[in-house]
Amino acid sequence: MQTFAYTTERGEPRIGVMVQHKPFDFTRIWQIYKDIHNSPKTPDYHFIQIMIETGNFNAEALNEVVHEVQEFRGLTDLAIQGNINYAVPIQRPQNILCLGRNYKKHAEEMNNKPPDEPILFAKCPSALLPHQGAIRIAKDIGRVDHEIELAIVIGKETIRVSQQNAMQHVAGFSIANDVSARDLQAEYKKRGLPWTLCKGMDTFLPMGPYLVPADAIDNPQNLTLKCKVNSEMRQTSSTAEMIFDIPYIISYISKYITLQAGNIICTGTPEGVSRLNPGDTVQCSIDGLGVLSNRVMEG
Ligand code: MG
Repeated sequence: MQTFAYTTERGEPRIGVMVQHKPFDFTRIWQIYKDIHNSPKTPDYHFIQIMIETGNFNAEALNEVVHEVQEFRGLTDLAIQGNINYAVPIQRPQNILCLGRNYKKHAEEMNNKPPDEPILFAKCPSALLPHQGAIRIAKDIGRVDHEIELAIVIGKETIRVSQQNAMQHVAGFSIANDVSARDLQAEYKKRGLPWTLCKGMDTFLPMGPYLVPADAIDNPQNLTLKCKVNSEMRQTSSTAEMIFDIPYIISYISKYITLQAGNIICTGTPEGVSRLNPGDTVQCSIDGLGVLSNRVMEG
């Protein structure tokens, strides 16, 4: 069950859902479902974050809602027509936390040792960019790289959770591209400065197109990741190659930082990172999560 966020021509935020590979207006489907069940006090859903917070973001619930409305009156007039103006699945996350060097071969290609403990940094929520948006590279910043990563979206408040219980705190999975100003990063590393700017510039966090509920993914630790620039394959790996797995990451972070519904964790990139140039199109894909496509421009 793939869900996505989008904006209508009138600028209204909505949730979409893929049913048999076609996009449908889930915001409307949910309203009809509420009418069928005569529950006007239940909130409308215009943002996936609110679905997560109210405990309805799971494949079982989504399937039931879609199926019931389909049986009751059909979905034909609820199909989304024409081009979809995608938004990022989580539009105002409170926290975006990222792992550095979480794949051995990527650590090695950057001449770093694999870490003994997770290396954490934060990305600015203002860096988020939807599927099909343009990554903008300022003229004077040198080399900028793509980094495909599996993104976790947290489902509920998470404080000092054990590894054993950590997966119950995941709402869903998406694709992120941790775009990085590499020359600046090298310079900052040399001078002992933080990475905030080289990782956090506007448009440096494409995310989407879909957010897939955690219960729709059999094994998130066995997903193929692929990143293509134009038609050339640059990164191919599997989430099985992570040094610190998802339960470890969530448990580790939550020892020190309270995670909330809608928080995003980017789990690190595998080897094969390379330069993006204006005019390129970068496509990141992960099994079951779709293809996140963004063009690159100067400015
Ligand atoms: Mg990264």
